[in-house]
Amino acid sequence: MDLTVLLGAPGAGKGTVAARIAAPLNAKHVSTGAMLRDAVKAGTPAGLCAKAYMERGELVPDAVLADMVGDLLAAAPRDARFVLDGFPRNTNQAAMLDTLAARHNARVDLAVCIDVPLDVVLDRLGGRRVCPACGANFHVRTLAPRQAGVCDSCGASLVTRADDQPDTIRNRLAVYEEQTAPLVAWYDRVGKLRRVDGSGDADSVAAAVRRVVEGG
Ligand code: AMP
Repeated sequence: MDLTVLLGAPGAGKGTVAARIAAPLNAKHVSTGAMLRDAVKAGTPAGLCAKAYMERGELVPDAVLADMVGDLLAAAPRDARFVLDGFPRNTNQAAMLDTLAARHNARVDLAVCIDVPLDVVLDRLGGRRVCPACGANFHVRTLAPRQAGVCDSCGASLVTRADDQPDTIRNRLAVYEEQTAPLVAWYDRVGKLRRVDGSGDADSVAAAVRRVVEGG
């Protein structure tokens, strides 16, 4: 089982890239943020625990993620491939992922960091609209749906994510710098880090990430 990790600040485009490269790589896109939002919606014990952290833009406790990702790997076929979007998010989770991977005969092949300047990140998060029904992502200007406010894929009304409000965005970026950015050095040390310029449009960034993953 091969696991490709996408790194990058909130708004760097991890979800957009993962959604575009998963099918051509014959992989499954795993967004821990989406899994947690589903758990919150469904009112599961994990969701009840996660809700307040997510609303503040903080990381959900590692134990919740360990259970979620552990269950995912345990249920996966041996030849599965995953593109991990939003996990790991700190060095403890990266160590956890190595332990879980070893247990399930899996390995992290690469960590691809999508580099985007801060002003682009702020614009992307501020203009992001999401589909609450199918999870598709849009941007009011750069990735606009065909009809304003309506999901291209399923026709539901688009919304602004609760954690894309300005105060929460600031907090998420601070959490990223403090807890997630050190993962870039973590994966560099073990020779698995690749970097991609993420400031272009969604298709070209996704194509660049795909080339890097296919190149190994
Ligand atoms: P995302 O959709 O990846 O931006 O994640 C949205 C929110 O879900 C984050 O701000 C965190 O509160 C939570 N979250 C997602 N992935 C993780 C993770 N690996 N560890 C802790 N919290 C997470």
